[in-house]
Amino acid sequence: MSAKCPICEKPVAPKYRPFCSRRCADVDLGRWLKGGYSIPGEPAGEEDMQAAARPDSQRPREADDED
Ligand SMILES: [Zn+2]
Repeated sequence: MSAKCPICEKPVAPKYRPFCSRRCADVDLGRWLKGGYSIPGEPAGEEDMQAAARPDSQRPREADDED
């Protein structure tokens, strides 16, 4: 079984792994750098909504008890 792109779930391309294309790699990179920023033209998926929900945090939900 080959891995699937975490962005769009298409088959991963070796050149762009773990993504299927440079676009998806850029999408993922943009999320890390800008916290939920999405590339214009890229349809918003469930992962986009999850990222947008916590734009400034990369912490797991279990740690969401800050005061
Ligand atoms: Zn993809």
